[in-house]
Amino acid sequence: MRPPLLNPLFAPVTSLSGVGPKQDKLLRYLLDRSDTPRLVDLLLHMPSSVIDRRARPTISEAAVGSVVTLKVTIDRHRPPPSRHSRAPYLVYASDATGDVVLTYFRGDRSYLEKLMPIGSERYVSGTAQMFDGTLQIVHPDRVVDEKGFAAMPLIEAVYPLTDGLMLGALRRAVAQALPKIPRMPEWISPEVMRRTGFPAFAEALNRIHMPQTLQDILPEQPFWCRLAYDELLAGQLALALVRAQLRRPAGVRNAGDGHLRRKVIDALPYALTASQQQAAAAIANDLAKPLRMLRLLQGDVGSGKTVVALLAAAAVAETGKQAALMAPTEILARQHLKTIAPLAERAGMRVAILTGREKGKKRKDILARLAAGEIDLLVGTHAVIQDDVIYKALALAIVDEQHRFGVRERLALTGKGDAVDVLVLSATPIPRTLVLTYFGDMDISELREKPAGRQPIDTRAVPMDRLNEMIDAVGRALDAGKLVYWICPLVEESETIDLTDAEQRFKVLQQRFGERVGLVHGRMKGAEKDRVMARFAAHEINVLVATTVVEVGVDVPDATIMVIENAERFGLAQLHQLRGRIGRGKEASTCILLYKEPLGEMSASRLRVIRETTDGFRIAEEDLKLRGEGDVLGTRQSGLPGYRIARPLAHAQLIAQAREEAVRILRENPKLQGEQGEALRALLYLFERDEAIPLLGAG
Ligand code: ADP
Ligand code: MG
Repeated sequence: MRPPLLNPLFAPVTSLSGVGPKQDKLLRYLLDRSDTPRLVDLLLHMPSSVIDRRARPTISEAAVGSVVTLKVTIDRHRPPPSRHSRAPYLVYASDATGDVVLTYFRGDRSYLEKLMPIGSERYVSGTAQMFDGTLQIVHPDRVVDEKGFAAMPLIEAVYPLTDGLMLGALRRAVAQALPKIPRMPEWISPEVMRRTGFPAFAEALNRIHMPQTLQDILPEQPFWCRLAYDELLAGQLALALVRAQLRRPAGVRNAGDGHLRRKVIDALPYALTASQQQAAAAIANDLAKPLRMLRLLQGDVGSGKTVVALLAAAAVAETGKQAALMAPTEILARQHLKTIAPLAERAGMRVAILTGREKGKKRKDILARLAAGEIDLLVGTHAVIQDDVIYKALALAIVDEQHRFGVRERLALTGKGDAVDVLVLSATPIPRTLVLTYFGDMDISELREKPAGRQPIDTRAVPMDRLNEMIDAVGRALDAGKLVYWICPLVEESETIDLTDAEQRFKVLQQRFGERVGLVHGRMKGAEKDRVMARFAAHEINVLVATTVVEVGVDVPDATIMVIENAERFGLAQLHQLRGRIGRGKEASTCILLYKEPLGEMSASRLRVIRETTDGFRIAEEDLKLRGEGDVLGTRQSGLPGYRIARPLAHAQLIAQAREEAVRILRENPKLQGEQGEALRALLYLFERDEAIPLLGAG
């Protein structure tokens, strides 16, 4: 139950005066809510800048282009000549140094006459412009008399808006919400308050929305930092609560004596790299402990994560328990199976696949064997965690390429077994700060070295007007027996909507190279996709035109050339992932980034980085730098996805501090009891991390 103390903040914004159904709709959109936003949502909408109205020049001193506040006498009004005229309504005013024209398009005469009677003195604030040699202010933001001026804020917050929502309306709503903030207990510990000098929550909100200096609204300043810390602390606390919940019953150990792992390793046609060995050892160590494992295995595309995952599954199978490997797409699931099955078979492990494609009798069969414990490792898509999929003894869940892993998914996954360990595989190296934000105190293994024998990739950026040259070069490569990926972006973000680019390119290349060209895209059926991929791998097709379905996981080591069309449209992480499809075999590879001119600054920087390095960890860091407040995980919001206030760069330190604090809190007060505990629960509600609260009740 939400502490009643917070109720005023959870009142709907429509309870404010001036906020009706129309504003409700706009605010839902702006604040990204499916229901009517609450006051707390409004208050956590941070300003983007400020307007400084402190400049008080005379008319002759007013700097054109800047916001000025002028003290003037109203001289005369000049309404448009007729009611149907498009001419603006003009108000002429002056001070001792000169004249100014106040311009209103479609101005309401009676309103303006009342606002500015001739002969009166007014303070007028707005952006100074020059028109026909006269100073002009179009639609002044403020026109007030002496009394109004005394009450007028000289520094005002400016907010990100949405079409149809006026800044003034948003400000008025915020101004009404601020006094409704209740007196709340401080949830940040006295030590942290002392060390950081943070203002109180209410004070921080007040100063952010009613800034007194130009700096007050900056993310680096204490007011924003305080709120960012609150948000991060709530997030870390929720993660830590889940983690604490995931303790295994004492005595349960999920790693066996190593006999299956040895067989797998003996069946490998290569030697494990040092970092693969380290990762496998760390995982085995986790599995053997009576604590639930939550480990992230990071490594570039091609760094060899699959075999490490298989070794983890083998360790579990040694104790007679089961593992599941969940991939985001069907192609990837089948790819995993292809790598894993021969090795697993040699070790005597029983492996099966379950995706949306296994239906009817086949599916029933798999489910029966799974329930009987006759499958050691189930590979598949999210089909492996559907409700009717029952494991005899699931002990390990391996999740591939999953970047965001919410509290809810974690609980669902681990609910499939008694004491399920979790291993997450990620090919998008995530900068440390983001790992902390999303995975909390998840342990991390990194595969930094590439398997031996990998050839470097020569990456070049080529403008689109050299397309024909590139097609000629592809022709020569085909004659030399090479395999070529030709990647086209999707115009729409959904894999299923717009394929024109890929289809057109396919036709053009087919005209030129005939039967040697294939096409694979997301709208094709699974079996169809696999067939095309298989023909490519078997050299029956030599050019594979593809949308980004090949991005994740596909492994055709013989492919050595990749052309990426409209490379300027792809993000860094995506380019890196795509390129990871080549350079996997013993031959040198080439990647051509075809771009449309003119290149924007950001696109140019991205192409430069991708040409300079193939190190995914470096690319991730550059990505974070380039995007600044952007996001590395692929959503479009600025800032950290799932977070409204914290910013990855400005608040990197706070992320680590909040995590340490969350761990300390749960060590000292695991049930969040007492006054401090109550305050922390309120914090979880404020930032919508309360889904973790029921865990406090459970043993
Ligand atoms: P990832 O899943 O990290 O992208 P994979 O596990 O699919 O990478 O491995 C890519 C390729 O490298 C596979 O063909 C695999 O057999 C091979 N491989 C993995 N580890 C090694 C190693 N230590 N030495 C040589 N080849 C390896
Ligand atoms: Mg992989």
